[in-house]
Amino acid sequence: MSDVGTPLAQLQNHAEFVGRHIGPTTGEQAQMLAQIGFDSIDEFIASVVPPHIAEHAPLALPDARTEVDALKALKALAAKNRRFRSHIGTGYYDTHTPNVILRNLLENPAWYTAYTPYQPEISQGRLEALLNFQTMITDLTRMEIANASLLDEATACAEAMTFCQRLSKSGSNTFVVSTDCHPQTIDVIRTRAEPLGIEVVVGDAAQLCRNSKYFGVLLQYPATQGDILDYAGCIANAHERGALAVVSADLLALTLLKPPGEFGADVVVGTAQRFGVPLGFGGPHAAFFATKEAFKRDMPGRLVGVSVDRSGKPALRLAMQTREQHIRREKATSNICTAQVLLAIIAGMYAAYHGPAGLVRIAERVHRLTAVFAAGVGKFGFTVQQQTFFDTVTIVTGAHTPAIHAAARQHAINLRVIDDASIGVAFDETTTAQDVETLWSVFAMTGTPPGFDAVEPYVFRAIPKALLRSSPFLEHPTFNRYHSETEMMRYLRRLSDKDLALDRTMIPLGSCTMKLNAAAEMIPVTWPEFGGLHPFAPEDQTEGYRVMIEQLEQMLCVITGYDAVSLQPNAGSQGEYAGLLAIRGYHASRGEGHRNVCLIPSSAHGTNPATAQMAGMEVVVVACDRNGNVDVADLRQKAEAHSAQIAALMITYPSTHGVFEEAIRDLCDVVHRHGGQVYIDGANMNAMVGLCKPGQFGGDVSHLNLHKTFCIPHGGGGPGVGPIGVKTHLAPFLPGHSALPSRRAGAVAAAPWGSASILPITWMYITMMGAAGLRQASQVAMLNANYIANRLAPHYPILYAGKHGFVAHECIVDMRPLKEKSGITVDDLAKRLIDYGFHAPTMSFPVAGTLMIEPTESESKQELDRFCDAMIAIREEIRAVELGQGDVRNNPLTNAPHTAQDLAAEWVRPYSREQAVFPLASSVESKYWPPVGRVDNVYGDRNLVCSCPPLSDYAEPHPDEVETARAA
Ligand SMILES: *Cc1c(COP(=O)(O)O)cnc(C)c1O
Repeated sequence: MSDVGTPLAQLQNHAEFVGRHIGPTTGEQAQMLAQIGFDSIDEFIASVVPPHIAEHAPLALPDARTEVDALKALKALAAKNRRFRSHIGTGYYDTHTPNVILRNLLENPAWYTAYTPYQPEISQGRLEALLNFQTMITDLTRMEIANASLLDEATACAEAMTFCQRLSKSGSNTFVVSTDCHPQTIDVIRTRAEPLGIEVVVGDAAQLCRNSKYFGVLLQYPATQGDILDYAGCIANAHERGALAVVSADLLALTLLKPPGEFGADVVVGTAQRFGVPLGFGGPHAAFFATKEAFKRDMPGRLVGVSVDRSGKPALRLAMQTREQHIRREKATSNICTAQVLLAIIAGMYAAYHGPAGLVRIAERVHRLTAVFAAGVGKFGFTVQQQTFFDTVTIVTGAHTPAIHAAARQHAINLRVIDDASIGVAFDETTTAQDVETLWSVFAMTGTPPGFDAVEPYVFRAIPKALLRSSPFLEHPTFNRYHSETEMMRYLRRLSDKDLALDRTMIPLGSCTMKLNAAAEMIPVTWPEFGGLHPFAPEDQTEGYRVMIEQLEQMLCVITGYDAVSLQPNAGSQGEYAGLLAIRGYHASRGEGHRNVCLIPSSAHGTNPATAQMAGMEVVVVACDRNGNVDVADLRQKAEAHSAQIAALMITYPSTHGVFEEAIRDLCDVVHRHGGQVYIDGANMNAMVGLCKPGQFGGDVSHLNLHKTFCIPHGGGGPGVGPIGVKTHLAPFLPGHSALPSRRAGAVAAAPWGSASILPITWMYITMMGAAGLRQASQVAMLNANYIANRLAPHYPILYAGKHGFVAHECIVDMRPLKEKSGITVDDLAKRLIDYGFHAPTMSFPVAGTLMIEPTESESKQELDRFCDAMIAIREEIRAVELGQGDVRNNPLTNAPHTAQDLAAEWVRPYSREQAVFPLASSVESKYWPPVGRVDNVYGDRNLVCSCPPLSDYAEPHPDEVETARAA
């Protein structure tokens, strides 16, 4: 079309974003519609979305903006943030993200678009990076085992609390928290303890440990105000009483301080933020959790372990309780699913880049600057409260306090507000000698501050001798090899080359919505205006964030039909938790605090029952019928039976089976009639945006996964944002925060807005799509899913469909009948897809022995066809086995995936090399070579190794050993 004649003002300089986000062109959409029997997309959607819930009015959102315009508008908002130098500390410290890591990891889609490494053969790169993280944590803490990240320091402390309760033999119900812990940690602990009936006692830990009965104690090391305390006595007392001790420790300090593993800690937690991850107004950052080997089965979160592949070659994979919630349901140790993989990887790489000596140099410098500052400030009459400290001191400022804060503001400096008479000052990697002099002039008020050079030569350590670190750490070659930029750049490239992420292929994961994470959405994440803000910075410096957050909350209200939104939860699981707490608070406020039954359909995502348990609720399972729908009769009966006790129904919509259940309004009505609330799990919002609203068809609260439907990349298993939307009556029970002026309920995360620095991704997405674009995205997501279902139906049984025979945004391929006939399993199919260059769909969820496929709207018809062609070709391979044309145990499927080494070895297989690795002509040109063959899970769990193994272990184990282990 020609632009001639269009008024100049309307001439678009750039293509609309929606056409870039949505894969199939209009012409291709018409073709696909024809294939499934429709003339128009509206007609198709009318056969999928039940008319009694469909919304026809366009979403009340501003018009779509181009990439250029949206970025300009967001930049203008970002400019309203004022970046002060932060000396607030309290668990958040400024850091230099090494540029080689910024560019090649944080800003690199090969890393940030990867999925959680459930398919180990295509995830060896990120698994190695996570193993580095675990090794770094066990080394620095001197604990035996560490997981692959948790959501933030405060929630890690809360997880540690329930961990201690499970393991302690004290018989007590009390958890002791030292007053020396960060305030946000205490806040989150209190929230978590209340529904579980745990009594939290905050006080002088040394005294409490000696004189009371308790199951666990939490200590902060160094203390929140700076002191380095000797906890050995306290921990010994705890152990005498059958209690466990948790130490929340600072990673950088541990390079100089005696590690908690050497003074008896049972658990060590903390944040890895200051290892290269920007402040980001509170997140996302990786927390860590380390403990003793003996407690490994009770550890929350995921754990990477070393195993072997089929040829006996070392290979990594997620160990043990990988999908714990799906198996143990309400008995799971934790509800954490998405964690903080990308951020953990950054922290691990920061340690690999600096190495042990580099980290010590950074820590020494920070410590020395702190000591110099303290000595100087003492020279003009102030008392420093700490005798011993690492990077933080508290100054007794008396009546001068307001004047000093005012002077600091004049210099664009933030100090920690402790109380009316004292001020906290924390230092970090970015602090300079010049900063110390500026701080002196701030504190000097009237007197003349000393010069840095006058104080510096006379200052020594302020770390007690008994608590100096003597043990070595990070001696593994990984932490000593990549100190030049060239080596680090190539290491990052080498690892990402081992993996399949969205930058190479579609990742058709049912229930996980792996859609485009557009570059324009990602660019603002690393703007310093967003990255450089401390979560507790004063309100007048964070206007840009606040306006962006308010606008985003408003947009999400419009999209979901709810009245209020909280962006605090750091993942879907945390949204579920915040949502159930809101329901709990609401019932209690009406004198119905006894309501504690949570009805959950048997098909629910595993996080649902695990969360209900955390919220102190009793799970009552509701049956599903043969079509995968909630059994309405069973729901009625269970609701009747528990009528006075019902707190909530937790239901996923569209259903976990990918169907718009017709009965949804009835289901909601039944529960409401019995006085319960309806929690609609909105992780599958990608089928609903612009078409129907959970807040309008019966939901009281929902969480959304911004890292699914709203374009935040999956990061290999995190970060995530799991906001909740609620109707007005639940709004007073949304999470609050001690750093926010108006208190609502307790906090569920360390930072007031959780992972604030990735919210621009969703803001950009909604802004660039506009109402029409969002609606179209949902429509095409369903068109793509139904097109795949239609193409695969002649070859595979497709499970579950709605009233008119259509699926919603995902479809389930049933492998069970084929397995019966051929012996080929869902695993074989998933691994064979790797040979074809694809990431497997979701395996065996929600139904064992099936694959759930969700293509999303971002995949082009060409990519959908490529995938269908592969699936159909694989079906023929299965048929060959079925017909007895191949060996049941030695065929391209059971041997998949095939590595380059397999090819180079002597070839004695009953099929050709060509069929093994180039099954389709189209895969020749951009062949993905898996670095390892099929990984042996059982071997790894029997020989659990969860830190970087010594290089000698990489010698090939004897094949007999591998066989024996497998047989055992
Ligand atoms: C992904 C998902 C969740 C959990 O979200 P996380 O961010 O991984 O905690 C919950 N429910 C459903 C239906 C999901 O698909």
